[in-house]
Amino acid sequence: MSKSTEMWDRLGADVDLLIIGGGINGCGIARDASSRGLTVALVEMNDFAYGTSSRSSKLVHGGLRYLEQYEFSLVFEAVSERRILLDIAPHIVNPLGFLFPVYTTSKHKLWFIEAGMWLYEGLSLFRSPRRHKKLKPKQVAEEEPTLNIDNITGAPLYYDCSTNDARLTLENAMDAVGHGATLSTWTKVVGFVKDAGRVRGVKVVNQITGETKEVRARAIVNATGPWTDRTISMSKELKRSLLRPTKGVHIVVARHKLPVNNAVVCVHPTDKRVLFAIPWDDCTYVGTTDTDFEGDPAEVHATREDVDYLIDAAGAYFVEHQLEHDDVIATWAGLRPLMAPVSDGTDGDIDESKVSREHQIVIGEDGLITIAGGKLTTYRLMSAEVVDTVVKMLRLHGQVPTKLRPSETEHNPLPGAVGWPADDDHEHVALQVLDAAKGTIELPTARCLANTYGTRGIDIAGLCASDSKLACKLIEGRPEVLAQVDWAVTMELAHRVSDFMIRRTQLYYRDADQGLGATEAVAGRMGELLGWDTGRIAEEIENYRADVALSRRWRG
Ligand code: FAD
Repeated sequence: MSKSTEMWDRLGADVDLLIIGGGINGCGIARDASSRGLTVALVEMNDFAYGTSSRSSKLVHGGLRYLEQYEFSLVFEAVSERRILLDIAPHIVNPLGFLFPVYTTSKHKLWFIEAGMWLYEGLSLFRSPRRHKKLKPKQVAEEEPTLNIDNITGAPLYYDCSTNDARLTLENAMDAVGHGATLSTWTKVVGFVKDAGRVRGVKVVNQITGETKEVRARAIVNATGPWTDRTISMSKELKRSLLRPTKGVHIVVARHKLPVNNAVVCVHPTDKRVLFAIPWDDCTYVGTTDTDFEGDPAEVHATREDVDYLIDAAGAYFVEHQLEHDDVIATWAGLRPLMAPVSDGTDGDIDESKVSREHQIVIGEDGLITIAGGKLTTYRLMSAEVVDTVVKMLRLHGQVPTKLRPSETEHNPLPGAVGWPADDDHEHVALQVLDAAKGTIELPTARCLANTYGTRGIDIAGLCASDSKLACKLIEGRPEVLAQVDWAVTMELAHRVSDFMIRRTQLYYRDADQGLGATEAVAGRMGELLGWDTGRIAEEIENYRADVALSRRWRG
């Protein structure tokens, strides 16, 4: 029986907490609650991180821009979480330099930005990944040779972090499973089970087999990001939207088309919005846009205007490297699940517990706990706050299990970080991976496994060593190997080809042809492991092609 089927079968037992949504918040809550000792189930209608949590700018950052709005406590919170994530997920949260070019025409002068840098580092109690530097024009030219330095007065170089958002989500999910939680993907909530006006459970549909079930729980959390309003509407009539979602788009190009050594902070030439050109191994991505969005979150995609807007921003800073439409390998579009300001409750509809301007925990009259807003960076703290709320609610109803531990997510490493070297030496782990593969893989693959899976890359290398067929490259010239498919299916609840191509690996974004060349090998191997017939294999390939087409729809 596959692990996914096992999860579906386990679903249905009464639990303390049921979570709807397997994004970073849902999975973070599942990890926190299960490690405290609550019985937990999570249902996700698609794959882990299918929504916003695989479509962010992939930064773990304090948000320098909040300083301009005097939001010091928000920045403090985010830089503190950045420090914690560097400790608990060092394999996928990595320091990244940010170069902030300042020109004679810039809105803020160099001294002003420099003062902001000191404040930013001060708020992190001087525990930034690295100390910032102030670069003079000549040094900027050396640091970032492709950047336009006409009329530049200098550029602070400061440090935040990059991450793999989908895998950060997945690591939380896997840790929750390790603590006994039941996490069922491709399982959609289609209605609530109610008793005396309060939510007591949910009705779910298995999106692959069509089976249905009821799951009862003592507390239910709605962590459905951009789908928040739709989820609440299943319980009661929503008098007004809780969300005000906006769309953010990124484009990916080959690194040589836009060579950057650091994330370069760009101010858009027309609307003066801040965006970034971010180095990503052999690619660079540029983002993000910020436009209103109405419609089905599943259909969000980049338009020609979005792509042109991003190309224009890059073109203003990298004048010798003007991007063409044909340079764009992939795009992704996500919805910021920002909460519209909640009223004082005069409509009598919602009891609000406003935790901060950035995220909110709302308890409905029906007992449904909704979490929305916030950032990827602060998910751990938000998750702990949600679980505190759940525990309070259970306590109120005399339903708290006796042996409940405090939240320890701040200290405990995520699965891939167990055994990671204290000096954060990625190369050391890559060499361990290489060793474990016993000559079946090369160093670039070992590095890819270490940097994607952390110390668990050693186990994947072990699969290659025990069956050299699994060491086959998925795409010639790229590091990914077939053993990753086995790992994804047996250890990471991958159900479908897209789960593997988009969220277990990033072939969808990083390969020049978005991984289309690997689709048959991946579908074939998944078919062997999951017992698919030829019809299902063909369907999976078609579905993945549709995902690629969505990313290319802007081309018309
Ligand atoms: P989601 O990840 O959207 O998860 C919700 C899940 O609920 C989805 O997977 C969905 O399938 C599931 N679901 C919905 N309805 C149902 C149902 N009926 N049954 C079962 N499941 C259901 N933050 C940062 O810190 N750093 C950044 O660099 C950054 N960049 C960003 C860039 C963009 C363009 C955007 C849009 C956001 C960015 N953010 C960033 C914010 C961050 O990505 C989000 O705050 C975070 O991912 C939200 O996670 P979530 O779990 O709330 O929602």
